Parts: sequence; C-alpha cells; structure tokens
Amino acid sequence: MQIQDFVRDILDFPKKGVVFKDITPLLADAKATEAVLQQLLAPLKNEKIDKVAAIESRGFFFGMLLAHALNVGFVPIRKPGKLPGEIISEHYDLEYGSSNLEIHMDAIAKGERVLLHDDVLATGGTALAATKLIERLGGEIVQCTFLMELDFLSGREKLKKYSVNSILNY
Ligand code: AMP
Repeated sequence: MQIQDFVRDILDFPKKGVVFKDITPLLADAKATEAVLQQLLAPLKNEKIDKVAAIESRGFFFGMLLAHALNVGFVPIRKPGKLPGEIISEHYDLEYGSSNLEIHMDAIAKGERVLLHDDVLATGGTALAATKLIERLGGEIVQCTFLMELDFLSGREKLKKYSVNSILNY
C-alpha cells in the first residue's frame, strides 16, 4: 500500500501559494489508517511512554489512536480559549502573524515521558511551542512524530534536540 496515495494536495488553501496536504482521504480508509498507525508505532517498541500529546486539530486524529494503541492517556494541546481548566500558554510565530498554544496545567505530571504528535511538520514553530509547553510541566519528550514532513521548510532543525519521526517526506 502506498500511503502517499491517500494524501491529497489542495492548491492555494487556506491561502494563495500554499499547497495544503489534505489527509481526509487517508482518514476515510481504514486499511491506510491502520498502516499509518503501525508505521508511527514501529520505532516506539522499546520506549516507555506515559502520555501522548497532540496538537489541535489534525494532530488529534492519529494522536488519539496512538494513545489508545499504547494504552496511555491523551493530552490535547489546543488553540487559545478552548481548554476550560487552568492552562499555561506558549506564543509562537506563524508564516503571517503569530498565535498561542495552550495545555491544561494538570495534563502532564513531572517526569512523565511524552510522545508529541501532529499531522504535518512544516517550519517547526508549532511543534517547538508544543515541546515547550510539555517541558514547562516537567514532561520529557520521547519523540516528536508526524505523518509528514515538508523537508524544504527545515522544521527538523528547530526540533534537533529531539528524536523526530515522520513517515512521509515531501
Ligand atoms: P509549522 O509550525 O510551520 O511547522 O506548521 C505546522 C502546523 O501547520 C501543523 O499543525 C499543520 O497541521 C499545519 N500545516 C502547515 N503546513 C501545512 C500544509 N502544507 N498542509 C497541511 N497542514 C499544514
């Protein structure tokens, strides 16, 4: 099975010049979804993991599947104003402008080993902000795992402190 056949390029979305990597065809296919899940899990066989944290919103799809497969808890890292409890927040730069990511203060206990997941690693700013949130709570990043990586944006450079795994490269 060719997993890349289930990722669709949408030109000029959400704005002109962007090639959006649409994973809805992948999500719509049970066998492709299972194949992706197994590929994400493969390098983690010998790792002790306490929590999976994933980034809103497309990170949630496989983030929750990973947590379920690993039999550990799931932690949502969300956009501003979505989490109802006490939060900490991290500011980060986007291509145009900036934003924040938030996590519940009690989502991760000190010393917990955390797998971070998102769908796409582009410039790496989003994932880096997420690693900061996890580490501010005392979590230890086991790996940053992505469905795909846009190599030409060098996001891996920002995450060079960490183990990074992506199953598709563009
Ligand atoms: P970045 O902070 O530049 O690494 O951007 C990563 C975040 O933006 C991820 O949460 C992705 O879901 C989203 N993203 C960035 N570029 C794309 C793209 N070409 N297609 C789909 N999602 C993208």
